[in-house]
Amino acid sequence: MNADVIRSDFPITDDLIYLDSAATSLMPRQVAEAISAYDLRYRANIGRSVHRLSVVATQRYLDAHDRIASFIGGESGTTVITKNTTEAIGIVASGIPWEKGDRVVTTALEHHSNLLPWLRLRNRGVNVDIVMPEADGTIDPAAFEAAVTDETRLVAITHASNVLGALLPVRKIADICHEHGAELLVDGAQSVPHIPIDVKDLGCDYLCFSGHKMLGPSGTGVLWMQEMTPEPLIIGGGSVEAASLTGYTLAGDYRRYEGGTPPIGGTIGLGEAVKYLTSLGMEDISRHEEWITRRLLDGLTGIDGVIVHGPDTPGDRIGVVSFTVPGMHPHDVAHILDEASDIMVRSGDHCCKPLMELLELPQGTVRASTYLYTTGEEIDLLLRSLEEIVRMVE
Ligand code: PMP
Repeated sequence: MNADVIRSDFPITDDLIYLDSAATSLMPRQVAEAISAYDLRYRANIGRSVHRLSVVATQRYLDAHDRIASFIGGESGTTVITKNTTEAIGIVASGIPWEKGDRVVTTALEHHSNLLPWLRLRNRGVNVDIVMPEADGTIDPAAFEAAVTDETRLVAITHASNVLGALLPVRKIADICHEHGAELLVDGAQSVPHIPIDVKDLGCDYLCFSGHKMLGPSGTGVLWMQEMTPEPLIIGGGSVEAASLTGYTLAGDYRRYEGGTPPIGGTIGLGEAVKYLTSLGMEDISRHEEWITRRLLDGLTGIDGVIVHGPDTPGDRIGVVSFTVPGMHPHDVAHILDEASDIMVRSGDHCCKPLMELLELPQGTVRASTYLYTTGEEIDLLLRSLEEIVRMVE
């Protein structure tokens, strides 16, 4: 995969260096065109009207739905289009019939979206056990062996940390969960866009991810489920097989969770994004990012005055790299990179306040995150700019 060749699909890269794909990725022309084709040429609601425009829109929606499901090795019938990862996790957290005394295990590494829904269950008598990561964000499966018991109903973990980049050993954790009859929810917001994923290999029961981090539009996310056991959060138009004044029968597939008009153009756009990723090949994308991440890690660790947080081996991590410049606030570093060098990075707590407390980084970190369009020259420019910033501190 040659990042230089595909860059013409991403016009934003003409003008600046985008190293904030962990927050939201860029979108290629092909995806923007698929969305605008729906809006300008065949816009209609789906699964409702019998006219030809609706038939075309419905078919394109269903094709995109199937493609998104097979991208993660899932069945279309149990793959639900949501608004984002946060909503996908929320559907599971609100839909399980919790009982007092149930236990949930999660980690201190989590994004607020995979932490707050579980902490809130404490109000309903559910116990929440927190597994602590090492300082670099890695977690030994033995920590889960100690935390998961026969009372554990669900384990909710991120696949890849959005702060430290560390990948968790999901397959091993899945085996531990299933030995105890617990289900496993994986927050794949940072992994699905970057590495090949098959839900059968992961062994999880729920996988949640966001369209806007994988070349798709905002307002789209995915919840894949092994079994459709959670009670839907919202029901109404589109979610039933039958309804009368005495009762209703929910649809037997994903439609029970997609009450109301879904993001039609957005889902068609996400389907196009998946097509784009598949045509490049997820293996090749992850190899490219491993190479870029090695260059970034080597460069950053070579600068006196920059501290890198997270694992050092690109094979154990994704291209989300956090660092700090002692003596300068992370927001100031990010502002200078933008204003002086046209480099976009994120700074702050990354919606992971408990992790920041644990790492004793109250101001947070600067985070550079890569994707398939990131080039080695861009990394070198970031490194040169950081050398100048470090000189300002001295
Ligand atoms: N989990 C992780 C690991 C994330 O990085 C993010 C986005 N920063 C989310 C959940 C939430 O994603 P969204 O805002 O799309 O719901």
